[in-house]
Amino acid sequence: MPLYCFSCPSCGAIQELLVAFDAKPICSDCNGQELQRLLSCPAPEGKSAGIIRSGRAQAAREGYFSNSRA
Ligand SMILES: [Zn+2]
Repeated sequence: MPLYCFSCPSCGAIQELLVAFDAKPICSDCNGQELQRLLSCPAPEGKSAGIIRSGRAQAAREGYFSNSRA
């Protein structure tokens, strides 16, 4: 399942959730059921550091940041 980001209009929380495309996730903060799926994760400071790190590691593996390689 893909990882999607959702924003909760009730409490403003941004949540990263593994859900099916048409699933109806529930806010873990306020149990709101009106979560809006975001096209991309805003990656708030701290919370998503691990995801960003793994993304960069993947990019490095694919060569985007490997300028030093001959
Ligand atoms: Zn909420």
